[in-house]
Amino acid sequence: MYNLTDIGTIKDILSRHGFHFSKALGQNFIVNPSVCPRMAQESGIDGESGVIEIGAGIGVLTAELAKRAKKVVCIELDSKLLPILDETLADFDNVEIINQDVLKTDLAALIEEKFGGMPVYVCANLPYYITSPVIMTLLESRLPIEAVTVMVQREAAQRLCAPVGSRNAGAVTVAVNYYSEAEKLFDVSAGSFMPAPKVDSCVIRMNIRKEPEIKISDEAMFFKMVRAAFGQRRKTASNSISSGMGVPKEIVIKAIEECGFPPSVRTESLKMDELALLSEKICSLL
Ligand code: SAM
Repeated sequence: MYNLTDIGTIKDILSRHGFHFSKALGQNFIVNPSVCPRMAQESGIDGESGVIEIGAGIGVLTAELAKRAKKVVCIELDSKLLPILDETLADFDNVEIINQDVLKTDLAALIEEKFGGMPVYVCANLPYYITSPVIMTLLESRLPIEAVTVMVQREAAQRLCAPVGSRNAGAVTVAVNYYSEAEKLFDVSAGSFMPAPKVDSCVIRMNIRKEPEIKISDEAMFFKMVRAAFGQRRKTASNSISSGMGVPKEIVIKAIEECGFPPSVRTESLKMDELALLSEKICSLL
């Protein structure tokens, strides 16, 4: 079995296969030996679990997942990594690599086809250029998954795990809170990767809620209002909602008053249930 965090081993494998890192594909591979075992350990998987990994690289996290899970299916876009993974994961018979773009993958069909009835988890060191679309797809598609454990840039982690109603919250925070309970697991320094990125990272886990925490009658309207409300952070909630949603300002102000909020209330101070109440009021006045 290869030591996939040993720099000499990695360099040897990469040079034998003529592999060069692609910045465009977000290829920063983990070389800190403590990170992947800890990520796999804290992702919640056990010997009965199915795991989807996004982006295998040379398989350093894949191997840790394969040691602990029943089955690992890894979606990797870069076909140049396939012969490398054939070699580095040769000892595992519970790993399947799918050479595809995760954003073009039908994950619901994949789960049904590959995992038949197993509790399914997602665990990945995400390519940073697609952090938001991947997380939003995983949450919004209401996939039958238990938890999503991902490494993201530290700034993104702060936003994803922020309490709704605090300064760091944004529209993505509201979505994450609606579909899951997010927690920060641990920090990872830039030096833990090869090549080292410019910024530090953080591993977070989103435990998927079976039911949303708050009841919303019109989800599409709620998220449209949330995107508008957080779209122009320097404006008051009434200004950003009315311009972002194209709703007359009088209606938004009336809704804000009926909710009992001050007219100059700012979006960042509104909590989850308050945002829900506001969207219900706006809907009722339209
Ligand atoms: N898991 C490895 C590790 O931790 O060292 C590699 C992580 S690296 C940050 C991201 C990986 O995602 C790369 O292997 C890259 O080729 C792959 N990737 C990039 N874009 C992708 C996409 N759209 N779909 C699937 N994989 C992608």
